[in-house]
Amino acid sequence: MLKSPSTANIIALARLRVSLKSAELIITDQDKGLRLDVMECKACYYLSRGAVVMQAFTKSNCEGCGVEVTFPNSRINKLCEKCAESNDRCCHCGGDIDIDIPQDKYASTIQNLGAKVSE
Ligand SMILES: [Zn+2]
Ligand SMILES: [Zn+2]
Repeated sequence: MLKSPSTANIIALARLRVSLKSAELIITDQDKGLRLDVMECKACYYLSRGAVVMQAFTKSNCEGCGVEVTFPNSRINKLCEKCAESNDRCCHCGGDIDIDIPQDKYASTIQNLGAKVSE
């Protein structure tokens, strides 16, 4: 006889909610001002923030101008702030800062999914 799935369901729903929250943040871009302050694309800002980083000073060279940049942790940027800003690129991954996804299509997907998990 299997145990009740209630605990597993709670964990599964929590995981779904986290994913949906990420999707919602990407769609609404509610931290746009802060995100542009740190010159990061939506993927790096909303999806990589929770990633585990090591607290150790790390050095890296900008892929644009070669200047050496020091980071307080293991989260290394590909571009220095100057290169990111002057080229409208994400300083973390080097992609376009304004890269976007087809909003209409995914907005309705999120609404549908959101309705199902919040019941
Ligand atoms: Zn640079
Ligand atoms: Zn990026």
